[in-house]
Amino acid sequence: MSLTGAYDPANIFAKILRGEIPSAKVWEDENILAFMDVFPQSEGHVLVIHKTSTAQNLLEISPEHLAQLTAAVQRTARAVTAALSPEGFSIMQFNGEAGGQTVFHLHFHVIPRWSDRALKGHGHAPMADTETLKALAGRIAAALD
Ligand code: 5GP
Repeated sequence: MSLTGAYDPANIFAKILRGEIPSAKVWEDENILAFMDVFPQSEGHVLVIHKTSTAQNLLEISPEHLAQLTAAVQRTARAVTAALSPEGFSIMQFNGEAGGQTVFHLHFHVIPRWSDRALKGHGHAPMADTETLKALAGRIAAALD
């Protein structure tokens, strides 16, 4: 998928937002949903999405929605850091198929990092166990401001 074209309401994150498929939710409010990546690149990999924006990528989102989303990314990163005590974290965001994007509902990755643990490949990590993800989501949620 290129950077242009219409938003596909059948994308996997739209289905998660509609409750059609499950996710391990970390937190949500009226604008934002943060949930565990089911193919985590490291332990505690969280995805943050806007609930009402149908931006596919960074180019399409309104400044108002982007401000809400980036504030949510920071809130999530603070909770991930407090809960899991990583040595660092990476914020990732991919645009267009050629840019590495695989789900075309704009999202930010919050990925905790440890110097002695290799990052698993984007789009190549094994699927995580649901109960493990729920437990991590609970630990991160408990550390929210
Ligand atoms: P992108 O490649 O578009 O930047 O990121 C999409 C992310 O969604 C990937 O990291 C991938 O592991 C994750 N993902 C794909 N399908 C699902 C799913 O069904 N549930 C969850 N929670 N994450 C998914």
